[in-house]
Amino acid sequence: MMTAQPLETLVPDYIKRFQAYIPSKPDDELKKIYGCSKLYRLNNNENPLGPPETARRAIEAFPPAQASIYPSGDAHHLRCKLADIFGMHPDQFLAGNGANEVIAFVIKAFCQQGDNIITADKTFAVYEWVAEFSGFEARLVPLVDYGFDASGMIDKIDERTKILFVCNPNNPTGSWWNERTLSSFLDRIDGKRIVVVDEAYREFVRSADFPDSMALIGKYPNLVVFRTFSKMYGLAGLRIGYLAGSREVVDIIRRTCIVYSVNALAQVGAFFALADKEHIPRTHEIVSAGKRFLLKELDLMGLPYVHGEGNFVMARLPMSDSLAYRKMMTRGVMVRAMTGFRFPNWIRITVSCQEALEAFVEALSGIVKDNGAP
Ligand SMILES: *Cc1c(COP(=O)(O)O)cnc(C)c1O
Repeated sequence: MMTAQPLETLVPDYIKRFQAYIPSKPDDELKKIYGCSKLYRLNNNENPLGPPETARRAIEAFPPAQASIYPSGDAHHLRCKLADIFGMHPDQFLAGNGANEVIAFVIKAFCQQGDNIITADKTFAVYEWVAEFSGFEARLVPLVDYGFDASGMIDKIDERTKILFVCNPNNPTGSWWNERTLSSFLDRIDGKRIVVVDEAYREFVRSADFPDSMALIGKYPNLVVFRTFSKMYGLAGLRIGYLAGSREVVDIIRRTCIVYSVNALAQVGAFFALADKEHIPRTHEIVSAGKRFLLKELDLMGLPYVHGEGNFVMARLPMSDSLAYRKMMTRGVMVRAMTGFRFPNWIRITVSCQEALEAFVEALSGIVKDNGAP
């Protein structure tokens, strides 16, 4: 006779150890909790311009009746468009429900029990999380001078290492590898491991010697590039991102894709977003003006900060980041408290429009003064 098993015995140890990520509550709930009437979200690096005009029109024109029809199971038209833009083959692209989903595709495709992945200790945490809740080890290499440490990562490789994840530019520090650093890293890996370069912020980059990673795929077939429509293209709510790689590597990753995970509206929005010629330059203007303003104000408050490429800045506070988060919320400003990124006492601020940044400066200077700092 079977005895009743407690739930515990069904759960793998690596799931028992893993803590669920708790997302922020919706705006209406937060306004009630913190007693604010307006809320500026500067916590997720979204584009204050929203989606490009071309995408807006396409989303508005989407026939509601089409909601009953399954979408293209492999984002066919979008992949053809990307192939056109980058001079590659459509089968070199895989779309996912946000770049977050393609992280899981790659890890599932290459890792088995006992394998590990390597990334930095202070970077986008989803690489580490997906590895760990799937039962794989995530080896974390400390940043050097706020940037990814190429040699440190190579030193951590063993025979069970399958994938190295480089966030370029790095969220949250904005540091980035130039073409020479990335190529020399790929040369040293010598095709023996998968190298993922997460370029979620690629479209914000202004520096001329940023790597042309799509071109590097031709020379390095073990290179996988991630992009997203959530940041520059303002489509975070529709959830769409993609990866690019050599055909051999993408043919393997495709086996782990969930068919139909990218919805029809997201596919349409992304396809038309790529056609807009004004959206990116307009966003660049807003981000560079916003950064100038923000850095000047942080200087005036005497707060240290770190930034690079990307639409975000990290600042160090003379107080706990979670306390600062709560106090700023009562003033209607939401930033990212960075303890979860292993940067205690730091906050990350999205470089948004002037109005939002002014609200941020007012909220922050209020709480820094309360705290008795200069
Ligand atoms: C936002 C972000 C992503 C994922 O975005 P999706 O919304 O899932 O497409 C991936 N990597 C980094 C570094 C990010 O900041």
